[in-house]
Amino acid sequence: MIINPYPCKSEYSPATATAIAYTLRHLQEQVGQEETAVVRLSSDDHIDWDSFPVPACGLPGSDVGQIADMRFSLTDGTGLHGQRFPDGRVEFHLDQVDACRAPIEHGARETRMVQYGAWGALVFGALGYVADGPRGALLWGGLGAGGGVAFGANTPKRSRRVFALPEIPFSNPLAIRQPTYS
Ligand SMILES: [Zn+2]
Repeated sequence: MIINPYPCKSEYSPATATAIAYTLRHLQEQVGQEETAVVRLSSDDHIDWDSFPVPACGLPGSDVGQIADMRFSLTDGTGLHGQRFPDGRVEFHLDQVDACRAPIEHGARETRMVQYGAWGALVFGALGYVADGPRGALLWGGLGAGGGVAFGANTPKRSRRVFALPEIPFSNPLAIRQPTYS
């Protein structure tokens, strides 16, 4: 007996890694710098996993409710970042700096790590100075910086704008209908 691997096969064929990255580049141009374009596929049926390279690393991203992170290094230095959710959906976005190859630069570019670190150093340094003079400023400032970096590293700079399949015809990604927001 032959089992059809795609029992609900529609007009959309499963998306390849290349098609997803290509679509995301166009979507990202449309949403601008303030938001991160996200492509949502409702299940593995819509993803051609054979077209993906082995994930370069699984470094966890900011917590958006995902149960797993998969990161694929692209040749142009960016990263295709996939996230799997408990309901089976998988979401992809592009990281301007690939987290597997440049984790620190990635954190500085995509999260509030640097800002919160600086604020932590400033605020706790001032408190430390009041409490214990220059020695306190140094000690408390260092702790504040560390706390700020840790907290900021999990705080994305941009909000996510989710485009869900089957609203994206991969053969013509510019013909996008209604985006969904989250
Ligand atoms: Zn990412």
